[in-house]
Amino acid sequence: MSASVALRLPSIDGLLRHPACLPLAERYGREALLASLRQLLDELRSSVVNGQLSAAEISPEVLAGRVGERLVQQQRSQVRRVFNLTGTVLHTNLGRALLPEEAIEAIQMAARYPLNLEFDLASGKRGDRDDLIEGLIRELTGAEAVTVVNNNAAAVLLTLNSLGARKEGIISRGELIEIGGAFRIPDIMARAGVRLHEVGTTNRTHARDYEAAISPRSGLIMRVHASNYSIEGFTARVATAELAELAHRHGLPLVEDLGSGSLLDLTRWGLPAEPTVRQALLDGADIVTFSGDKLLGGPQAGLIVGSKALIARIKKNPLKRALRVDKLTLAALEAVLGLYRDPDRLAERLPSLRLLTRAQADIFAQASRLQPAMAGALGEVWSVAAVQSLGMIGSGSQPVARLPSAALCLRPQVSRRLRGRHLLNLEAALRALPIPVLGRIDDDALWLDLRQLDDEPAWLGQLPLLQVAQ
Ligand SMILES: *Cc1c(COP(=O)(O)O)cnc(C)c1O
Repeated sequence: MSASVALRLPSIDGLLRHPACLPLAERYGREALLASLRQLLDELRSSVVNGQLSAAEISPEVLAGRVGERLVQQQRSQVRRVFNLTGTVLHTNLGRALLPEEAIEAIQMAARYPLNLEFDLASGKRGDRDDLIEGLIRELTGAEAVTVVNNNAAAVLLTLNSLGARKEGIISRGELIEIGGAFRIPDIMARAGVRLHEVGTTNRTHARDYEAAISPRSGLIMRVHASNYSIEGFTARVATAELAELAHRHGLPLVEDLGSGSLLDLTRWGLPAEPTVRQALLDGADIVTFSGDKLLGGPQAGLIVGSKALIARIKKNPLKRALRVDKLTLAALEAVLGLYRDPDRLAERLPSLRLLTRAQADIFAQASRLQPAMAGALGEVWSVAAVQSLGMIGSGSQPVARLPSAALCLRPQVSRRLRGRHLLNLEAALRALPIPVLGRIDDDALWLDLRQLDDEPAWLGQLPLLQVAQ
């Protein structure tokens, strides 16, 4: 008892004045130092009371050292750059599309200076932020009008609420999908105030199914691009053109959620075909919604394009104000859309397209080049091989399509029983690097798909820091 009573934590005031803490106050500011000291002492108090710490462990010098480490950690930003070597290019959890330089410059301009966000420079009157990209969108998609919101989930919510509230939305059972992150079409419909009227079956829906559902209560027909799964075998789906004709015959709008929404036919770059926004509109969809940061390769945004009259109704909805995009997004979006005016050079200038179209031979050569450095950093326990691999587009685009790629395949040379732990330890060590490296574990190996490894010097430079627990 006597020892634990005698031992007491130094006072906050004493520590603040202690020479070991003065440089910390100088560097991080007195308030930040005070806050961190308080946290540390609070955490130590019970250990001291229970006699679990020695006098040396709570000396001012030791406490100053610990609080210094804590301040370094706290000053480091929580938003961290990583290496995405997962093989999934448009990775939702890793920020999806990387922006081109043109967009980065536009964001800097918009961040640094006042701009004509809602100001018409020609007339000197109040303007509308959507007008800043309307011309480009019309040219690139053939749409009459556009409005932009925070993401495609918001675009779907706003469209449904504007055009179908208190009415029925007719949709095929094969399109009642969940996108992930709690985005489910039936739930979004309910939140938008639209009554779901599902028709057909999971695998087959016919025009007569839609037709039979139409009544005076109908508000719209909806079609959702089944982005993240595919139905194969005995299936039937009504073509957009036929569905549009049917909708219009009954005076209903056809709304199409295209999801990844590409602006150009991707097969010209050897990628799997995705429906384009222009084609959906040509087929007769009245409104098309799609994401800005999926195949489009821009910032997070949701684009709603279509007929002038319907877009006008959508823009009048008070929810639009709650879901609108900010100036940085608009600036970036305009810059990205601008690149689409020159499709011949798009694959050089738009990072997402450049990465998606990288040749397997090129990636394999890179893997062979980096193999010795990786093997050197890992030592004897690991076999490191440059191998062919298969990646994905990601973000629900083409879920079954695979991108031929190449990877470093890291295999622990230990008994089967120990492999799992070795792989998890290596994964953790790669995540602990200054720029965390994210790969994927599959088939008793850790795969680093190199399709997205642009910054080789930074990647190589931190390899000597790799410390894998045994
Ligand atoms: C991705 C996707 C969404 C959601 O888009 P976000 O931009 O992530 O909000 C909605 N519908 C479909 C069909 C999608 O593929």
